[in-house]
Amino acid sequence: MRTPIIAGNWKMNKTEAEALSLVRVLMQWVRSYSDVEVLICPPFTSLSTLYKLLVSSPIQLGAQNISDQPFGAFTGEISGAMAAEFCTHVILGHSERRAYYGEDNALINRKLQAAINAGLIPVLCVGEELAERDAGNAASVINHQIQEGLSGIHLGDPAKMIIAYEPVWAIGTGRSASPDEISDLIANVIRPSLSSLWGEKISQGIRVLYGGSVNSENAGGFFNTAEIDGALVGGASLTAEKFLGIIEKTQ
Ligand code: PEP
Repeated sequence: MRTPIIAGNWKMNKTEAEALSLVRVLMQWVRSYSDVEVLICPPFTSLSTLYKLLVSSPIQLGAQNISDQPFGAFTGEISGAMAAEFCTHVILGHSERRAYYGEDNALINRKLQAAINAGLIPVLCVGEELAERDAGNAASVINHQIQEGLSGIHLGDPAKMIIAYEPVWAIGTGRSASPDEISDLIANVIRPSLSSLWGEKISQGIRVLYGGSVNSENAGGFFNTAEIDGALVGGASLTAEKFLGIIEKTQ
């Protein structure tokens, strides 16, 4: 059995004061839910404060990015070890990093290695753009993202890797893929691709989330589908009521 996980990607939103007031509300309610993991990924600037606040809370903290380098003269970068002082997870390969910062599968692969070396659990985002989908190339794009992104990485424990299937055309657009389409893609593309790297047993144990305009109205449809192990949530993770409404749909 794979425990569902609901992850919030705050992107470049929330000052430290705003982060504190949102997390104080989340903390009050999160204990009423069982058999679900909750992960929030705030900006780096709030991690230290939230780490202290969440010390006895089940809410887990993730970073939104790390450097592929371990330390040194890399102005503006944050290493895996620095993130691991506060975080258990890190989002890598998000489509915004691929599109706006030129991150390709080779760089994402180095970042994944850096994350694992630092003891962080990567949340690797994969997903096709609209033109790739329309051209019938979604499966091959996603397979390449997995094979190149995870190349050379040894995984002995499926709990140490999370995949988020995020079709680029569904992120922040209000348009989402259907539970059947997502399920089909996970079962026929993502898990076989993971299985070719690490074998069937590990592949079946890895949580695969869906991301792309998830909200409390459509979340139930995703979570009732056996292949979908939770959600990576952008916009709706910025409001306590909306994020809690999604978590509630796992119950
Ligand atoms: C995301 O950016 O990972 C995401 C899924 O965003 P949204 O939920 O806003 O579509």
